[in-house]
Amino acid sequence: MPIQNISTPLPHAQPMEPTDPNSLFAMAVESVNSACGVIQAPDFVKAIVSQPKNELMVHFPVMMDDGHYRLFKGYRIQHNNILGPYKGGIRYHPDVSLDDVKALSVWMTMKCAVMRLPFGGAKGGIKVDPRQLSPTELMRMTRRFTSALGGNIGPEIDIPAPDVGTNAQIMDWMMDTYLNTHQEGRQQGMLHVVTGKSVGCGGSEGREKATGQGLCYVLLELLPEFRLKPAGLRLGILGFGNVGSHTAQALAAHGAKLISVMDHTCALRNIHGLPIPELRRHVQQTGALAGFTASGLEVIDRESFYRTEVDVFIPAALERMIDEAEAKWINARVIAEGGNGPVTPAGAEVLRQRDIALLPAILCNAGGVTVSYLEWVQNKAGVHWELSRVDRELQQTIVLAARRVRLAAHQYDTDLSTAAFCVAVEHVTRAYKQRGIFP
Ligand code: GLU
Repeated sequence: MPIQNISTPLPHAQPMEPTDPNSLFAMAVESVNSACGVIQAPDFVKAIVSQPKNELMVHFPVMMDDGHYRLFKGYRIQHNNILGPYKGGIRYHPDVSLDDVKALSVWMTMKCAVMRLPFGGAKGGIKVDPRQLSPTELMRMTRRFTSALGGNIGPEIDIPAPDVGTNAQIMDWMMDTYLNTHQEGRQQGMLHVVTGKSVGCGGSEGREKATGQGLCYVLLELLPEFRLKPAGLRLGILGFGNVGSHTAQALAAHGAKLISVMDHTCALRNIHGLPIPELRRHVQQTGALAGFTASGLEVIDRESFYRTEVDVFIPAALERMIDEAEAKWINARVIAEGGNGPVTPAGAEVLRQRDIALLPAILCNAGGVTVSYLEWVQNKAGVHWELSRVDRELQQTIVLAARRVRLAAHQYDTDLSTAAFCVAVEHVTRAYKQRGIFP
């Protein structure tokens, strides 16, 4: 079929949109749809990206330490691979659901496209509270899940990585299981089937801090848009896990101060700045903020946390944390999304009315997948780069993406959040137009 005819809508290729207003997937598709409208993407692109390509759901038994068997439910959603192999994290959390994983897979496609990485988007997970499992149970569950995914993952097919509730140890087990169950893998040349591994198992320097480091680079580039400077920048951070704590640390190196922080156990504030290294140590040792003590520290309630005046508010926890009420309380100039999908559509509307700028996760937290890409490249080439090189490559890639987004905001006369989705959808559309659709 001649390429010029490809913009004709495919018969029956109407976008299938979810209708549940609280659906995270509906939220993700809506962001993509509105960008499609702004850039006037062809209908067939809108239709294709409105659903994942493959939805894999597996149930698998695992022996617990006491000898009984427990059945687990796992997902791998492969949203789109027009730009390269599917790519995205694996989440272990009791709230993992099909709808949420689908949404997160859409955002991965968009994130990789904004960053111009040669990857598509995917996401996976197991509905489980990993803190309730022993290390050996966690290992058996991870290995059994990896084997259930079988040939659906692979170094040039679909490449998992860490997400909420998973870490380098889980990635090492996934890689090891894959290599032991695939003929080609046994030649040990396929370390790049998984990223976010420990450095000793082929992981990259700088991968653990990558999301926070990337968010820091994005802010350094975009702060002038809001007449803000990193020196003395007041931060409020929701969630103090990998993303929140590394973001605080990276920005503090440029003179920013952490004014307030909250996790599922408590909220803390010090208007002169909280001690970040001590906080990180406490959370590493105890798993949460509760019980932390320091001079000048106030323990505050949830509402006071949101109402605390800061320059940049960073939600770095789970989805849908900022709804209408929280959006009314937030006292910041800018919200930079460290976690995926933290703001509900109703929350976003309030923020718009209050003229609070929203920097989207597909740009802000793309540092993680960018260093995953660098790990994949190093594994493929059989090399190991120094941290300074990884940081430099990350900075270059994410700063260029931030500039692309800023330019699109001016070009389309829209906000930075819509602009990021425009940049992503434009890139995906270009590939579809040039490649056409098989057969
Ligand atoms: N889970 C991370 C994200 O949501 C990283 C994904 C990856 O490295 O593939 O961006």
